[in-house]
Formats: sequence, C-alpha cells, structure tokens
Amino acid sequence: MPKMGMDPQLTRGALAAMVAEAARAHPNEACGLLLGRVEDGAERITAIRPAANVAADPTRHFEIDPATLIAALRAERERGPERGPERGPELGPERGPELGPELGPEPGKAADGQGDVLLGWYHSHPAGEATPSATDSACAPRDGRLWAIIARGTVRLWRDGAQGFEMLPTRLADG
Ligand SMILES: [Zn+2]
Repeated sequence: MPKMGMDPQLTRGALAAMVAEAARAHPNEACGLLLGRVEDGAERITAIRPAANVAADPTRHFEIDPATLIAALRAERERGPERGPERGPELGPERGPELGPELGPEPGKAADGQGDVLLGWYHSHPAGEATPSATDSACAPRDGRLWAIIARGTVRLWRDGAQGFEMLPTRLADG
C-alpha cells in the first residue's frame, strides 16, 4: 500500500485558476483554499476556492478570510473525517463512493457538497518568487498540508512539514 507523503497531483484546471486569481488580485496577494481528494495516499488538487485577503497590507502578506476557512472545515466535518490528508492510508478509504475520478467540480468553482477535502492553501507573491517567504515560514502551522505559491505566472507546490517547507515536484494531471 502506498504511504502518505507521496507527491501530490495538480490538475491543469486548478493551476490555471490559481494563475488567473493571482493576476486578478494583483498588486495584492491572492489567497484561498486548495481542494481535492486523496487517492492511494497522494493528494490530488482538483479545485481552488478563492478567499478574501484580509491582511492589513495585502500587497505584502496574506490572511485567508476566516469565514471561508470555517465554512470549508465545517463542510469537511459534516461529510465525515475519513478522508482528511492527515490520515494514514491504513485508516480507511481515501476516496468516497460518491465521487468518481471524472466528477470533480469545475476549477475555481465553489465545491460545497462535492466531496472535496481541504488539502491546503494557495497564495501569490506579486513581486517575488514562488518560494515561501520568511513570514510564510514563521506563520506556517507545519501540519503537513500543501501550500501552492504563485509567482510570475507559475505555481510551485510545497509541503508544510514538521521540519519546515519541502519543495515538491509539480505533477500535472488532466482535469
Ligand atoms: Zn508568501
């Protein structure tokens, strides 16, 4: 059985949606949620949910609107805890029967009720690189979730691990 921590997949639709959101928010930082599912121990990011950036200076920092975050966590809890990214594969199925591999929500659309789990967060660096800033590292909860950082029209994925940020290869998938 594959173990957790396998490299995640990012659908082309979710990637395009993040790049578009970063452009729309410029010169502010865009931010929001990474949604998707866990299949065979690997996350698959299939959609994003843009959130308001409520940071005091949104050109330099991001802070996801807590209302968006709370709604996503509540929706996840109401569907049951069986598919969170922090669970090991030995603890149950990673994919619910209600969601086939081709039935994910359209990229960038709201995904309530679609069976998505909260896999992590994205934000953009309008004037920087797609690497975590010192502020990002200081604020990161180190809970193993994924961070996507958008800069210069590209997206790079990181895992917010116990030892700090780990850069991940970008495995693109259809969808
Ligand atoms: Zn940042």
